[in-house]
Amino acid sequence: MERPLTQRFRKDGGPPGISDYEKTGGYESVRLALKRHDPADVQRMVTEAGLRGRGGAGFPTGKKWSFVPMGEDAPRPKYLVVNADEMEPGTFKDRVLLEGDPHQMIEGMLVAGYAIGAEVGYIFLRAEYHEAAKRLERAIHEARAKGYVGRRILGSEFSFDVYLHTSAGRYICGEETALLNALEGKRAIPRAKPPFPQTAGLWGQPTVVQNVETLYNVPHIITHGTDWYRALAKGKDGGTKIYGVSGKVKRPGWWELPMGTTVEELLFDHAGGMREGLRFRGLLPGGASTAFLVEEHLSLPMDFSSIPMSVSRMGTGTMIVLDDRSCPVGLMANLERFFAQESCGWCTPCREGLPWVFRVLEAMEAGRGVPADMEVLSAHPGLLAFGHTFCALAPGAMDPLSSALKYFREDFEQHVSQGRCPWNAKLQMHN
Ligand code: NAD
Repeated sequence: MERPLTQRFRKDGGPPGISDYEKTGGYESVRLALKRHDPADVQRMVTEAGLRGRGGAGFPTGKKWSFVPMGEDAPRPKYLVVNADEMEPGTFKDRVLLEGDPHQMIEGMLVAGYAIGAEVGYIFLRAEYHEAAKRLERAIHEARAKGYVGRRILGSEFSFDVYLHTSAGRYICGEETALLNALEGKRAIPRAKPPFPQTAGLWGQPTVVQNVETLYNVPHIITHGTDWYRALAKGKDGGTKIYGVSGKVKRPGWWELPMGTTVEELLFDHAGGMREGLRFRGLLPGGASTAFLVEEHLSLPMDFSSIPMSVSRMGTGTMIVLDDRSCPVGLMANLERFFAQESCGWCTPCREGLPWVFRVLEAMEAGRGVPADMEVLSAHPGLLAFGHTFCALAPGAMDPLSSALKYFREDFEQHVSQGRCPWNAKLQMHN
């Protein structure tokens, strides 16, 4: 793919300023939308293009927008909130986009805001993304000065303002309703859903919460049309995807590729395969809160439609690879420490269950595991399943664990039977 969409305007040596951005077609989709399409039309185009939310869940974007009340009687104000609180372990795609070309997100926000009749857009940015914050502030200022942001945009009836809000720095703030609470200045705990934010969101008003990468796709659907956008993909879900690979591969990194590129192509063609002397054991396809894929899944297309729910999910599309000389129990202990630390404590199964899982894994890894630990670990995915907790944090944390117990069970058992981490011993022999 010669000029991937989300990288279209990117330049070496920093993000494009607004003049360069405009020269290469930037903000054209706003002009087109305001002139040629009414909001319902924009919603229809996004639906037909097959755009699905890139935050991890893959909810159809046009469908999400269609739940927002429209027309004269609709409650006002309505809000668009960008979820830029990217904290999924192994995931760094939104940072790359925001630092590389912040104007493209403002453009996507304007089109999305127009489509749902919103007056205000908030960007909720991860606390540690300092460089992205600086670049976004500059871009918002430039866009406001040029009349793209503010009142009666480009002489139309549409008014839309944009504000940047930096998070105080917790993983739970990326959960959309906890994010809304944080934005309102309250404790960041998830709200019960339904009602979904589309009808009762920020300060109780209709709100769409959308991931950064999703919004980068929106302008191109308006400028190039739905057929063009759909045809970019290899599978059912439209467009392109930013994929990433981390772990002991030859070329870790990220690439924008047709949606539906297979796991195998990503791992071997783009990431160059495993480093010398190492073998592939498995990978988490979409950050830490997805289930492992192993050898038998390599031919699966990486999109929201192709990975069977019973196996795993694409999630954020940024893989974490496990090799044959790293300890799966150590990896799981590390991940579960993160999830336990980031539990907001609002519901009991998550608050109590995740630290328990972590303590068991930590003890196992340190050679203090007992046979009953296997039962404790095996029981937790059921105890922390969807429906038992307020949000997806704990169920998501159980996906890597239950699949690790399925594919790497022997490793767990050996830790207990040998009273030590067999992997550390093997590594010492190699060194
Ligand atoms: P979800 O499926 O509940 O919701 C996804 C989106 O679809 C939301 O905006 C929600 O409002 C909407 N939606 C879902 N069902 C709806 C319905 N019936 N009616 C109206 N709207 C509906 O998922 P979630 O809990 O928001 O997110 C979980 C995902 O987040 C996981 O896939 C995980 O991989 C991902 N995640 C990503 C990061 C990151 O840093 N990018 C961090 C943590 C988790």
